[in-house]
Amino acid sequence: MHAILLGNRGSRPLGASEESPFARYGGDTTSILVACDDKTFIALDAGSGFWKMPFTMEKITGEKGNYNVQIFLSHYHDDHVMGLAQSDLLFNPTNSMTIHGPDFTDTDLKTVFNAKANKPFNPDLEQFYQANIELETLKPLKGEKRISESTTISWLAVPHGVEQSLAFRIDSDGKSLSCISDTNHALESDNATPVLCADIIDFIRDSDALIYDCHFSDKEILSNPGFYLGMGHSSGEHGVRLCEAANIPVLVTHHHNPNNTDDKLDSITKKFKACGKKHGVKVIAAQPSLPLDLGLSPKKLMRDVKSMSTAPERWAKIEAIMRP
Ligand SMILES: [Zn+2]
Ligand SMILES: [Zn+2]
Repeated sequence: MHAILLGNRGSRPLGASEESPFARYGGDTTSILVACDDKTFIALDAGSGFWKMPFTMEKITGEKGNYNVQIFLSHYHDDHVMGLAQSDLLFNPTNSMTIHGPDFTDTDLKTVFNAKANKPFNPDLEQFYQANIELETLKPLKGEKRISESTTISWLAVPHGVEQSLAFRIDSDGKSLSCISDTNHALESDNATPVLCADIIDFIRDSDALIYDCHFSDKEILSNPGFYLGMGHSSGEHGVRLCEAANIPVLVTHHHNPNNTDDKLDSITKKFKACGKKHGVKVIAAQPSLPLDLGLSPKKLMRDVKSMSTAPERWAKIEAIMRP
């Protein structure tokens, strides 16, 4: 199983050209492509990073179409859906996809999809889509779906400010990846001690890696818990605590705060890594188009990530994923 981290920025996209101060951690908002060994393709969220989806599929499969992608949306905040309606994936008649999304009390998948594809946000694009597109609501807010003989995806509603989002877990051929893109943890009544949610720990237990909402640090949250947790986001340190409690060896820090430049994220990542070291958890900071080979041991995975510091190195790895 490979997870390709197409977009990792939280809340809003940033211009991230080579000379920008956001280039290394990227400007595209959340979208992750999971390529399972049985050739099942799953997209987790469709933020602006989703624009790279057809291009990435072409690199992996060597074909310009005939893609079958299972798309799962964690919730409908713009940073998680803004890349969907205009994606070339939807215009190619050889492609097929099922778009899955939660049915929350005040929003549902069909309403969001129609609004995004058509007026007022787009010029009635739905009539031009040629791919075979199906919409499937994820209801109730905890469940699982078998996608192929050897691949299952599960979901669980988690708190996200005044709303909820879905955590996902993919199990395929003996490997397992959990992803909680947007969530906030809670604090005990002392307003300082973080609560480890037993339901979430059970849900992610024994995964090979956890991709987690590390928008803030503990220090930021504790400086004004009502504000920072109310924004619906968690911390890198809490990601480490969850990994330790759930026996997960690797934390991938994700949903980077759009106010943090590369330099700032370098220093924050250093702190998250030091925290991980204390608790026996390896920490990887998500970077654009970074492919994670979950078939590798945690030690080898860290070495593999280190060997891909440039975009061409990452794309060469992506191209090799399914080649004999
Ligand atoms: Zn978000
Ligand atoms: Zn959100």
